[in-house]
Amino acid sequence: MNRRITKDIHVGTVGLGSNHPIAIQTMWSEPMPSKTDAQGFERLLTALRTYATMGCSIIRFSYPTSDDKEIFTRICAESPMPVVADIHFDWKLAMEALECGANKIRINPGNIGAKWKVEEVVRAAADRGAAIRIGLNGGSLPLKLRDGDHAVGMVDTALEYLQWFESWNFTNTVISLKDTDVEVTYRAYRAIASLMDYPLHLGVTEAGGVISAVARSTWVLGRLLADGIGDTMRISITDDREHEIAAAREIMRTVGLETNGIRVVSCPRCGRASFDSQAFLKRIQHRLMQIDAPLTVAIMGCQVNGPGEAAHADIAITGIGNRVYLYEKGILVREVTADSAEDVLFARLEELSHAQ
Ligand code: SF4
Repeated sequence: MNRRITKDIHVGTVGLGSNHPIAIQTMWSEPMPSKTDAQGFERLLTALRTYATMGCSIIRFSYPTSDDKEIFTRICAESPMPVVADIHFDWKLAMEALECGANKIRINPGNIGAKWKVEEVVRAAADRGAAIRIGLNGGSLPLKLRDGDHAVGMVDTALEYLQWFESWNFTNTVISLKDTDVEVTYRAYRAIASLMDYPLHLGVTEAGGVISAVARSTWVLGRLLADGIGDTMRISITDDREHEIAAAREIMRTVGLETNGIRVVSCPRCGRASFDSQAFLKRIQHRLMQIDAPLTVAIMGCQVNGPGEAAHADIAITGIGNRVYLYEKGILVREVTADSAEDVLFARLEELSHAQ
């Protein structure tokens, strides 16, 4: 598939645009730990390392108050991936986040206030080599555009802000246009993709829990990605961040843009099931998401149809009672107890990962 040709921009060590892989992002879901909460800080770093292992390459934090300055500076210094600060309304917080070392800020210039304040922020980002995402939402368009077609309103507004940025010689910019209406979001991205060559950050805003968010995001992002549109993406889900990353990867895998990471194949189970594949998959899912190798793992409910249906899988697993069977490319290679199945599976996955 041909990607839309874009400018090359950089967010710390990560490049965005058609010369680079599509970068997966997520957003920290809690307030930052207090500056005296050493354990909270360690937990945060551990989580970021896990996200990185899963294929996430950019992390965003809300930066709502100057109280976070010290801890945010430490996060920027120690994060395993480039850090973005999400800023609303207060241009001074944008300046401060850049001082802390943010590699990118996300702003809606329309809610930063006077144009000169936006200019100050843009010039500070240029001085520090940071990127800026112009992040527009249909719901926060200028009042005069809110009653019209949000797709048109977002595109026109983004193009106007881009002109501002370019008049200040700033081009390290990425654009997002999100609306709660998925068709509006799709039309907005399609339209702007043909009107300028900056990289696009894809996402559907306020998408809901796992089922609704994945369905809505796949409908919009799957079509855009298949059209070669999109350079970075966040699947917004009201749930664990690991699900956001895994969903982004799965959407990319489905449209043929991603080969790394475990592809899980599992049967829905039926009356023939002799193995609790649902409970087993639930138990191991988080561990599977942290393996970066391009392997297919099948978790099947019975030996009658399971092995045949999963013959293409690198490893397939099924069982009867306390006995669990491991197949590789359709051939039975091991029989183990149910208690040891998880350890045996992951040991073998580790070997296969290293052999890649
Ligand atoms: S693999 Fe077995 S348990 Fe799973 S759906 Fe097919 S027949 Fe049913």
